[in-house]
Amino acid sequence: MPIKLTEKDFEQTIVKAIDSLPEGILRLMESGNLSISYANEPTEDQRADLKNKDGDILGLHTGAPKQSSLGPIGSWPSFIYIFQLAVEKRCDTVEQVQDFVRGILLHEIGHFFGMTEAQLTEIGQLSSVGEKSNGTTN
Ligand SMILES: [Zn+2]
Repeated sequence: MPIKLTEKDFEQTIVKAIDSLPEGILRLMESGNLSISYANEPTEDQRADLKNKDGDILGLHTGAPKQSSLGPIGSWPSFIYIFQLAVEKRCDTVEQVQDFVRGILLHEIGHFFGMTEAQLTEIGQLSSVGEKSNGTTN
């Protein structure tokens, strides 16, 4: 049975997932202009920019990656979104949600540091989120 969390509980799992990230990554994130947010699902505008327009979107990174030609990290705002409905569909327990969100965060943080989809697949960060779940991270 897919889990159903209140917005508050979902937010809590995101906070815990962030807390569980390696300290080195957290420090790098703090040095950038990066916000982590969540919503039920992507907006029409967010979806319009994606290749997988009709599938479930688990997470999304928008804004300038670190290695962007727009400038160095921190000079442009960057956002990571986690989408609650798609995550809940794939999880039965709060622990699973937390693990799942952690995987999405690592994937999106990879994009934040300028990694491509192919590079993330190579190091297994997408497969831990995407393949198992049949959902997409962008
Ligand atoms: Zn991605």
